[in-house]
Amino acid sequence: MLKDNLSNVEACVQAACEKSGRKRSEVTLIAVSKTKPVDMLQEIYNENVRDFGENKVQEICEKYDRLPHDLNWHMIGHLQRNKVKHIIDKVCLIHSVDSYRLAEEINIQAKKHRLTMPILIQVNIADEQTKFGVSKDDAILLTEEVSHLENICVQGLMTIAPFVENPEDNRIYFREIKQLAVDIARKNLDNVDMAVLSMGMTGDYMVAIEEGATMVRVGTGIFGERAVSVPK
Ligand SMILES: *Cc1c(COP(=O)(O)O)cnc(C)c1O
Repeated sequence: MLKDNLSNVEACVQAACEKSGRKRSEVTLIAVSKTKPVDMLQEIYNENVRDFGENKVQEICEKYDRLPHDLNWHMIGHLQRNKVKHIIDKVCLIHSVDSYRLAEEINIQAKKHRLTMPILIQVNIADEQTKFGVSKDDAILLTEEVSHLENICVQGLMTIAPFVENPEDNRIYFREIKQLAVDIARKNLDNVDMAVLSMGMTGDYMVAIEEGATMVRVGTGIFGERAVSVPK
């Protein structure tokens, strides 16, 4: 069953790539596995998915120990500074950086582990009060500040678009994020390249791909509905 879900999502990703004249290899499908048991992750892993998204530090740590180590963990949820140390050597990308203080802590922990941590700046593109992330203006300022931190590299932007019935309603937001990334890239900041756009979820990932997403985060579409609603 998960296999069928995955094939459906994969077909839609391919269709969106074709429609927008992009290569399938330009888009990474992240299977968002929060709240789901490891045997379900293993099933998707067996279908050759290697990118998994989680929004809780503890869940990453537990699942990390129980699954193969050749997979990429993406931290996509709100991250508290005191928990950075637990995931710094486990995740391939932190999507949810929205303050300088958090970036500073990531930098300190990365230095300790002698690594450079790739991060994304989370933008609250529709200015929703319920969502984390910075405004467009603050995204530029924050990226400039973070560019001075030597053990971090800013690889791009992440956004969670509003929950909508019609995914077309979010096209304008995805377009704005893409433009923002282009504007920031033009500044040629140290340790910053804006190659990654993490946007699009189960309800709207096809539109996101058409507007330039390089990573889509799909949970429900692959694993089915989640039993409890998880705060974003
Ligand atoms: C849960 C979550 C997703 C996946 O949402 P679905 O609608 O189930 O695809 C994507 N991104 C973030 C940040 C999430 O927390």
